[in-house]
Amino acid sequence: MSEAIAFLPPRAAVLSRRAEILADLKELVPPGRLVDERNALVPFETDGFIAYRRRPLAVVLPETTAQVAAVMKYCHRYGIPVVPRGAGTSLSGGAIPQEDAVVLGLSAMTGIIDVDYANRCATVQAGVTNLAISEAVGADGYFYAPDPSSQLACTIGGNIAMNSGGAHCLKYGVTTNNLLGVKMVLVDGTIVDLGGKHLDAEGYDLLGLVCGSEGQLGIVTEATVRLLAKPEGARPVLFGFDSAEAAGSCVADVIGAGIIPVAIEFMDKPAIEICEAFAKAGYPLDVEALLIVEVEGSEAEMDAMLASIVEIAKRHGVKTVRESQTATEAALIWKGRKSAFGATGRIADYICMDGTVPLSQLAYVLRKTSEIIDRYGLRVANVFHAGDGNMHPLILYNINDPEDAAKAEAAGMEILKLCVDAGGCLTGEHGVGIEKRDLMLHQFTQVDLNQQMAVRSAFDADWILNPSKVFPLEGRG
Ligand SMILES: Cc1cc2nc3c(=O)[nH]c(=O)nc-3n(C[C@H](O)[C@H](O)[C@H](O)COP(=O)(O)OP(=O)(O)OC[C@H]3O[C@@H](n4cnc5c(N)ncnc54)[C@H](O)[C@@H]3O)c2cc1C
Repeated sequence: MSEAIAFLPPRAAVLSRRAEILADLKELVPPGRLVDERNALVPFETDGFIAYRRRPLAVVLPETTAQVAAVMKYCHRYGIPVVPRGAGTSLSGGAIPQEDAVVLGLSAMTGIIDVDYANRCATVQAGVTNLAISEAVGADGYFYAPDPSSQLACTIGGNIAMNSGGAHCLKYGVTTNNLLGVKMVLVDGTIVDLGGKHLDAEGYDLLGLVCGSEGQLGIVTEATVRLLAKPEGARPVLFGFDSAEAAGSCVADVIGAGIIPVAIEFMDKPAIEICEAFAKAGYPLDVEALLIVEVEGSEAEMDAMLASIVEIAKRHGVKTVRESQTATEAALIWKGRKSAFGATGRIADYICMDGTVPLSQLAYVLRKTSEIIDRYGLRVANVFHAGDGNMHPLILYNINDPEDAAKAEAAGMEILKLCVDAGGCLTGEHGVGIEKRDLMLHQFTQVDLNQQMAVRSAFDADWILNPSKVFPLEGRG
């Protein structure tokens, strides 16, 4: 395990009162909803950013907003740090606790409260998984658009905290574009409603502020999300290229021409091989880079859009164009892409980087990324949301070799800086968490950060909500 990233030192006053705190918390949640035994705490020590772990003070798993409010009121009163947690799939360490923290898990809050087709929205508890929303309304011809690859497990509360995206967000936007309202518990236990079933905010866009705030402004307990009608048809098409740069340039030209398919996903050769071995999706193995482009609409609309895309792809020397012919083939194509991280995990440990770049810089950043990886003597698989310019180099390493882990982290940090220097930003959809916290000064000035911290302090003056995350520990004032 690498120890390059520091956590805040635990508050001695909290650690010394552990027994008393546990007894008090037990009174605030239903029986069995307080986890405090050493072994039972292990699953809560880390998240998808597995290089780091800390054992929390305790975990509470409330079932209602009122119970969340009672826990927050108590923790606020005694200055106990609180780390909200959904499914713990964060790839930036957002849900990793610290030793003096109570983990407030929302995974027991899985109720679908209301499905309202007249207003095209659904209201759900924060622990409902992303996929469960689409499953609940699918038979009626609707779906919830943002589709992180982790959608089987990740919760809507986590999606809101990270402003999550997914393959189909190119056309439909990310979480913030599909969120209408939240019920949220403030740090002192006050319950507030932001937004509702209507578009746009009255006054400041606080909903927009909360979306992407990484569990630092309040605990989301309910969400009202937009439902969309399913398209008439959808067709994923595989485009194989001889080089990653050709594929990257093709993406920039497609979007530049004003063509917005539902999805444009990119895989380089290592990623193609890894995903094909796992999913048997029929990906071509004789190409250096693959684009999965999905179009949707009527048959005529899909044909017309595809013809324009093929035309552009030809200008970039496309080698293979293969349309899915059946629903099974289409599902396999997506299965391969969506299981990319899991399939990679079968062959090596990896850190998944998440930077965003302007599309015109895709080819350049891909080239520079492989130079960085070569310099460190590492291996990388690139699989990412190309249409959004959201890069995900998966840097392969051995977690049990501290030197290898340190190299992987250093290479990752260089790649993220490269994204910023190319006019992009540190995160596309995985948040800052602890992973990118110390790079924030590469993206922002101290003055920028002071402004952001002032906003955070307006919600949580004592910084007890997820305090080790997002802002560099030094320079917090
Ligand atoms: C295999 C894999 C594939 C992935 N693919 C994608 C992808 O395609 N797109 C993408 O965007 N992400 C992806 N992720 C990252 C991750 O799934 C998302 O960040 C997701 O939104 C996290 O949800 P969660 O419920 O697991 O939240 P957690 O990991 O538990 O928490 C994430 C953050 O949200 C905060 N939080 C959680 N719940 C609440 C709440 N109710 N109120 C306030 N704060 C809260 C936590 O404190 C933490 O900061 C992937 C992860 C994995 C492991």
